[in-house]
Order: sequence, then C-alpha cells, then structure tokens
Amino acid sequence: QAVGSVHPMPAPAELLSTIFGFDAFRPGQAEIVEAVTAGHDVLAIMPTGGGKSLCYQLPALSRDGLTVVISPLIALMRDQVRALTAAGVSAGALTSGNTEEETSAVWQAIEAGELKLLYIAPERLASGGTERMLKRANCSLIAVDEAHCVSQWGHDFRPDYLRIGGLRRALDVPLAAFTATADAETREEIARRLFDGEPEVFLHGFDRPNITLRFQPKDQPRRQILSFAAARKGQSGIVYCGTRAKTEGLAKALRDDGHAACHYHAGMEADERRNVETRFQQEDGLIVVATVAFGMGIDKPDIRWVAHADLPKSIEAYYQEIGRAGRDGAPADTLTLFGADDIRFRRQQIDEGLAPPEMKSADHGRLNALLGLAEAQRCRRMALLRYFGETADPCGNCDLCEAPPELFDATTEVRKALSAMLRTEERFGIGHLIDVLRGTGTDKTRRFGHEDLPTWGVGAETPKHQWQAIFRQMMGLDLVRPDAERHGALRMTDPARPILRGEESVTLRRDTIRRAERRPAVKQ
Ligand code: ADP
Ligand code: ZN
Repeated sequence: QAVGSVHPMPAPAELLSTIFGFDAFRPGQAEIVEAVTAGHDVLAIMPTGGGKSLCYQLPALSRDGLTVVISPLIALMRDQVRALTAAGVSAGALTSGNTEEETSAVWQAIEAGELKLLYIAPERLASGGTERMLKRANCSLIAVDEAHCVSQWGHDFRPDYLRIGGLRRALDVPLAAFTATADAETREEIARRLFDGEPEVFLHGFDRPNITLRFQPKDQPRRQILSFAAARKGQSGIVYCGTRAKTEGLAKALRDDGHAACHYHAGMEADERRNVETRFQQEDGLIVVATVAFGMGIDKPDIRWVAHADLPKSIEAYYQEIGRAGRDGAPADTLTLFGADDIRFRRQQIDEGLAPPEMKSADHGRLNALLGLAEAQRCRRMALLRYFGETADPCGNCDLCEAPPELFDATTEVRKALSAMLRTEERFGIGHLIDVLRGTGTDKTRRFGHEDLPTWGVGAETPKHQWQAIFRQMMGLDLVRPDAERHGALRMTDPARPILRGEESVTLRRDTIRRAERRPAVKQ
C-alpha cells in the first residue's frame, strides 16, 4: 500500500515516542502495528487495558489517507479524539453526542483531506451517505474496536456491526479488528463476518513462562552483576545500564573477570555499533553491556540472560528488555537492580523532560507500576501480568515464589502516614511528611505551622529510612501517588480511604524495610 507513496512516512518507533509519548511497545503491539501498517487484514485479541487503540492509531498516522474507526463507545471515542488532537493529530468523531459546530468542523477537515482518523458509531453505517463520504475522503483503512459486537450470540451484539463487512468490500481497503474476547467461537464468527478470507490473527498471552523474574535492591551493584554473570559464564547475555559511561566501566569489569564482553551505546560510531551487533549475533557467550539503544534490531533467539544494572524507565520498558531473553523457549534468567538513587534519577528525568503535564504524570504512573513490581508482595509474574490486564496463578519461577517475603501488619504506620498527608492538605512530598511524622523541626515545619498538628511526631519511633521504605511500598500498592504538577506532593488514592477509616488493614514487606535501616540515609 505504502509503495509508491512520495511522502517519507515516519517510522512506527519514532511515532511511538513523538506522538504518543511512550518509550516502548507493550507486549504484542509491535507485531500488530507492523501488520496493520503493511495493509494486512488483522484480527487482534488483547486483554482490556493491553493497549489496543495504539495498534490502529499508529498505523493510521504512518499510512496515506484516512482511517475510519468504528466503535460503540461514544465516551471513549471522544476521549481518544481529544487526546489525539492534543498530540497534534487531525482526528474527529461523528457521533450522536456532537454539537453542530463539532460536526461541521469534522466535515470540513474531511473535505480538505486533512483528517487522519475518523471515529464513527456503528449506527452511522445504516445511512448510505457514510459509504459515499468515506470513498470521497480517501479512506484507506477500517479499524473495528470491540469487534465481538458482531457476534449474534454474544452479550454485546450490535446489529449495525453486520454492515461492516459490506463497507469493507465497497471501499476495498484492509480491515483491522480488535477485541478482548478470546473464545474460539467468537473469534471464528468475527473472522467470518468481517473478512472475506482469513485475517492474520494475533492472540498471545503476555506471559513468557521460561523467563525467570528476579529483582534485588542495589547493594553493591557491580558485585551483584558480576556474580550474576559469573554463574552464567559462557552464555550470551545483555546488561542494561542507565548511562553510557557506565556501560564502558562495567564491560571492562566483566572482561577483567574473564568474560567476553563489550559495550554499546548510541554515542558510538555506526560501524562500531554494527560490529558489536554482528559479533553478538554470531558469537556464543558474548556479553553486551548497553544502554536501551541496544536491542531494537537484535534478533537472537538464544540470549540466556538479561540483567538491569539500573532500574528501567517504566514497566513497559522492563517487559520489553527482559523479553529479549529466551526467545527460543529454553530457560532464561533475568535480574533487575533497583535503589533509591534510581528512583530519584527516573523521577527527575520525567520532571525535567519537555512533555506536557498530563504525560508527565502518566510517566510517573508507569514508573510507580515498576516500583510496585519491584516491591511486590507475592508472585512477581502475577503482578506483571495483572498490570497488562491478564490474570495468572503463582508461577513458581520468580524470586518471590521461591522465597516469599515476610509480611507484617503495617496498618498503624500506613494510617499515620496517610493522616500526616491529609493534615498537611496533600501538598507535601515524602521528605517533609517524614519530618512531620518524626517531629523533626525545620524552617518549613515552622513556617507552615505543622508543629501544632495532632500528627506531629506520632511516628518518632520509626527511623527515617524505614519511613521512606514504607512510603515507597505505599506507592507500589497505589495507596498514594506523587502529583507531578506539585513537585511530587503525595496524594491519597481511593483504595487508601478504607484503611484510613480503619475499615481495612494493610500488610507491607518486612525485608525491604529492615534493609532500609542498614543503608545510608538517602534524601528524597
Ligand atoms: P485497551 O483498548 O486495550 O483496553 P487502551 O488502548 O485504552 O487499552 O490502552 C490502555 C492504556 O495503556 C492507556 O492508558 C494507554 O495510554 C496505555 N498504553 C498503550 N500503549 C502503551 C505503551 N506502549 N506504553 C505505555 N502505555 C501504553
Ligand atoms: Zn512467581
């Protein structure tokens, strides 16, 4: 389809960050985006929350012409149009909820040939005008959300969805259908009603059961990585680092330890980088110590391990990076180190970035999700899959299944922390809250009159580092969230309310709190 186009279309990976502000594809997205962009008929089954919309929005931007999106959910369409417009994409919706001005603006954009994405409700298909309009508008792709609505046996049957097949035939364009309903019968019915031949079907669970998941708090990071690698001598592996300088130092340390290792980052000459890629691909047992720049083009099935010397940027980036291991299905190991300095570094990176405020708080959210995974209380794989919308049983192949952490009832501490937040109107960050809890007088506690609060000093018996670990776990459990617009002031979330009211209890991990005691104090 794109062949013969004279416009240089931006690459999907580039659009992913420039338009959508994401640093990595979620599981399954890259393959689907590629197939849809190439103009294949696609049926993709992804769990709710897995990120289906991106799988048609991104191809819509890298293809010529207009993409029409059929969706039964008016509120969702309006949200998406708003978000796309804010990102500078020409998108519109024709729904019963439109004002007249909105509708005429959409028509104008269509007439001018500017619109890239047009959302329509299925009811629209009943009028003959829609087909004519889409033809005139150079429609080149149909995307169908909630495709199971075409199934007459399902709960969500929408008679108008039966018209989609006819529309596709009339326009003679590729069609991409998305649903979270995975049962084989519905799938078969969708394929029969929407497509002529067989669509390319994408149905993967996100689980990669052959990959062992393991996190460790940073203690002596270099020693931790060296001993992980030493236990896997002669196997191909990748070590991801947060900075370029670190890749060189760590690669040398590995060589000194008798490994074949080299470094890789975007600051190297192109032929130097290619040389590392080729060696990694062809040699057995090479370790590449790299920044995130390494991996996109790597297609090596027998990478036996991936280690993170520094905490990745988000849970998506984590999944993508560990996912490079064990593509051959044989057992593969991973290790991710995390420490207070990483958390600070990643937060700062987000805050100092150029993204608009909503995007920054979404980035903080994705980082929090990763921190939650780092300090998960039960099976790590369950926590990871839950984030991507899948349910699972304890896996038996992660560090937490192997050695379940000791939990303790932390209801009292958590209630103290929450009440300190509320008493200070949710306007302060962790450092100040700990001062209030411990009754540590500072200029700020005096200036705001916080020394007169009933919560002043109620947590004096708990050392500062333990309070930090408690707040971190509360963040991981999503009881509190840092407010990006207010320099990390903590806000309470809904699940925290019953705890504050004394209706629910909460457990935290003992080990990370004990360990916090032994580590040097960190500023927050
Ligand atoms: P679905 O339609 O599958 O339920 P959405 O398309 O609404 O899911 O996406 C769910 C959430 O995931 C949205 O908040 C979206 O911004 C986010 N998301 C999608 N893709 C990515 C990605 N690659 N990285 C980070 N977040 C993503
Ligand atoms: Zn597990």
